[in-house]
Amino acid sequence: MDSEMQPFIQAPQHAVPMQAKDLPGSPEGGAKITEKPKKALTDQGGRMVVCRTCGAPLAPLCARMAVNGSHTHVFFNPHGLVFEVACFFPAPGATPVGRSTVEFTWFSGHVWRVALCKACQAHLGWHFQGDSHSFFGFITNAIREADAS
Ligand SMILES: [Zn+2]
Repeated sequence: MDSEMQPFIQAPQHAVPMQAKDLPGSPEGGAKITEKPKKALTDQGGRMVVCRTCGAPLAPLCARMAVNGSHTHVFFNPHGLVFEVACFFPAPGATPVGRSTVEFTWFSGHVWRVALCKACQAHLGWHFQGDSHSFFGFITNAIREADAS
């Protein structure tokens, strides 16, 4: 409001009849709204999950989800290797590949496929498909958190 260099433009308002200030659309009320808050957007997209190999964004951090009551799960595969898996949906930066199988599935009622980074094809984890929903289980060692942009 300091940039208002023309005080004379306010002069005509002094001539407006008294009852005009009772109208809902008074000039004073309309002139004050100059900015709208933009914080909500940055709050949502502030953090990403990215591929640890190439840094490509995989999913917003808010895509974290709980499966069977937990976001992370620890599993052994048939070779005795231990994986810590974190569940996400959606994850636009990952892609399921190959044929789905129910063999050795870690989540009962879900078939799985291998999930790769779309950018560098690194193995990120697995994609699980249930009757009515699907999600990605990323190996926590294959991903990391990063700031968006
Ligand atoms: Zn990658």
